[in-house]
Amino acid sequence: MCEETRQHNSDQNIKRIGIVGFMHESNTFATTKTTRRHFEDAFFHVGEALVPAWEDAHHELGGFLEGCNTYGLEAHPVLAAWATPGGTVTDEAYESIVAELLDALKAAGPLDGLLLALHGAMVSESFDDADGETLERVRALLGPDVPIVLSLDMHGNVSPRMAAIPEVLVAYRSYPHVDQRARGVDCARIMGDILSGAVKPCQAHVKLPLLIHIVQQYTGDAPMADLYKELERIEAQPEVVSVSLLPGYIYADSPFMGVSVLVTVDGDEARAGELATAFGDYVYDRRNDLNAGLPSVDEAVQEAMATEGTVCLMDSGDNIGGGGPGDSTILFAALRAAGATGVCVVLCDPAAARMCADGGVGTRIFLPVGAKTDKEHGEPVTLSGVVQHVSDGHFVEEHPRHGGTRDYDQGYTAVVRTDDGNTVVLNSLRVMPTSLEQLLSLGIDPSDLEHIIVKGVTAPRAAYDLVAARTICVDTPGVTRAGPDAFVYAKRPVPLFPLDG
Ligand SMILES: [Zn+2]
Repeated sequence: MCEETRQHNSDQNIKRIGIVGFMHESNTFATTKTTRRHFEDAFFHVGEALVPAWEDAHHELGGFLEGCNTYGLEAHPVLAAWATPGGTVTDEAYESIVAELLDALKAAGPLDGLLLALHGAMVSESFDDADGETLERVRALLGPDVPIVLSLDMHGNVSPRMAAIPEVLVAYRSYPHVDQRARGVDCARIMGDILSGAVKPCQAHVKLPLLIHIVQQYTGDAPMADLYKELERIEAQPEVVSVSLLPGYIYADSPFMGVSVLVTVDGDEARAGELATAFGDYVYDRRNDLNAGLPSVDEAVQEAMATEGTVCLMDSGDNIGGGGPGDSTILFAALRAAGATGVCVVLCDPAAARMCADGGVGTRIFLPVGAKTDKEHGEPVTLSGVVQHVSDGHFVEEHPRHGGTRDYDQGYTAVVRTDDGNTVVLNSLRVMPTSLEQLLSLGIDPSDLEHIIVKGVTAPRAAYDLVAARTICVDTPGVTRAGPDAFVYAKRPVPLFPLDG
């Protein structure tokens, strides 16, 4: 959209900017729905409470607050809700949170602009692009003259309304996502430029018939690093306000799957379209490099057993950051069957965690754990061992890590040292394995371990690369299996490379 004139409050006033976040990555293949409770168990802050929770976080909400400060804007915290990636959001959760968001937005009084953090792959029972629906309702409340600068996770599946409603859409550009705060600051800078009249954003969106394998989405290396270099080259042109490339999310079956490219140019819609098309072609031409094959469980176990030092085995089928249940036992059982020792795995099993935590340190246990969410992530494994440590599950990550979370809560947690020389962490809230503090806070030094089963693919690498002599991403079964060919989609667009050739 491109507007020649825009009415604002008088220029001598400091501009009042609403700060809103409502974020969820919804795996439509997961068997457990996401409820309001999942948001409340993770992050749910209304009004000023948003500030202490997020201002120091390496997250775009922290970036919004910092950027408002830097660019002379007055931040008005409205609401922030975030839940760990999981199944489709229930209508009840979606409608109640959006209603609360809109009420809080109304109560904030007249705003000059809105900095809005959505994920881009939220699916509710009624809306395949729940984020597009949220945008539409927010726009209806604010009216056409209040600019919205939207930040999205690069795993967003951008729908037409998600691109059309905000003046500018800014996506993360690193995976693991360690640039979230910087993107939030970018959003505030762009908002300042819009409100001062320095730029008149014209945004173009190009959707590619392409899926990028999750392993190849790692931005620390080619091919993705090359794509983001090209993005920066385009963005360096003086008329360009912002460029985003979103690889998208393959675990939300929706008509909006696929890679998105967005280019925003100052005052020139045609130029925005031209640049977006050219960048889209550049990405699509590299499609053969954007696929991957992974070792099977047996191959990965063999490789891990033959490697010196700490090996991180990425459990791609139970990727918590993609909506996995966090209780798959498949890799752990395979390593145990191969006689591995020095293995560490975190399993989300609230009942077992509670039993061990209640027993306390030194309690001897004989207990089946894990694989209780559904039938797709192995069978429960029986632990024989001793409870070594118990915790309330709180830990803090000070460094920039994927997801930008600072204060983590994995619920009551117990560490079991098994008789066969392995370590099992039983927690009661699903937490993405994006911080080494998850283990360190429990008295476990990851660099002492032989094999760490990490329930993620690329996101954990910002933390686990620090201790891994080798990282092996494993083709494990599950609701987040690495390749799109493992899923039956009902709603996806056709064609999509590589599924349709
Ligand atoms: Zn993401």
